[in-house]
Amino acid sequence: GGTVEVRGLSKRYGRTVAVDGLSFTVRPGRVTGLVGPNGAGKSTTMRVIVGLDRPDGGSALIGGVPYRELRRPVCAVGTTLEASAAHPGRSARDHLRWMARAAGLPGRRVAEVLELVGLASAARRAAGGFSLGMRQRLGIAAALLGDPPVLIFDEPVNGLDPEGVRWIRGLLRSLAAEGRAVLVSSHLMSELEGTADHLLVMGRGRLLADTGVRELLAAS
Ligand code: ADP
Ligand code: ADP
Repeated sequence: GGTVEVRGLSKRYGRTVAVDGLSFTVRPGRVTGLVGPNGAGKSTTMRVIVGLDRPDGGSALIGGVPYRELRRPVCAVGTTLEASAAHPGRSARDHLRWMARAAGLPGRRVAEVLELVGLASAARRAAGGFSLGMRQRLGIAAALLGDPPVLIFDEPVNGLDPEGVRWIRGLLRSLAAEGRAVLVSSHLMSELEGTADHLLVMGRGRLLADTGVRELLAAS
């Protein structure tokens, strides 16, 4: 299953306590928003979930196992993959082929994920010339290669134009509707209100609220 369980998670950098005893659950079939001001600990939490950082205490499990033991990778869009910068002349399709091979995944998914993110017609173009929105889509395509049960998006709409924002929202909704667990962060509550089913509000490394969006709107 794609349930993410974060229990008593702590992470410090030197004297800075980035995450302080955090516990929450991200359920399949829903978009869960992680919201809080800059410095609240959102990225650190996501990095620990996907194994890019080790916690000092507590645990983050995906379907009951730590990230490093997963066979299908859970992917963090926004926190990973700047491969297109390293090889600007490489086509979108070749980037994805390369990434599929590196992850031990079949190359036949490449055409499918390019289609899913709306890059099919740009598949042969050099990714180095892509706009921010197109690079974002390429990163998402890479995340979808392994057909992961959980998808984690760190501030995915940052810097996108309104059309890009709408597209990301629709994508998050459809990924959740397919039964995946979707965790998405933002420093703006307004960015998540219309997208998330459930909200986790963070401040100073701690959880301030853990609530369904409908409950929240009904109470305000
Ligand atoms: P339904 O869609 O069946 O009405 P809800 O979305 O209201 O279910 O969720 C049922 C319960 O589970 C609520 O208490 C809700 O707050 C909680 N819940 C839902 N999603 C999450 C989540 N991602 N993390 C933690 N609790 C959640
Ligand atoms: P957010 O994503 O909510 O903006 P972060 O997780 O990036 O928050 O940061 C939480 C705190 O941890 C901040 O005080 C930040 O400066 C600090 N921090 C994050 N990553 C590092 C790092 N690699 N080295 C030192 N401090 C860090």
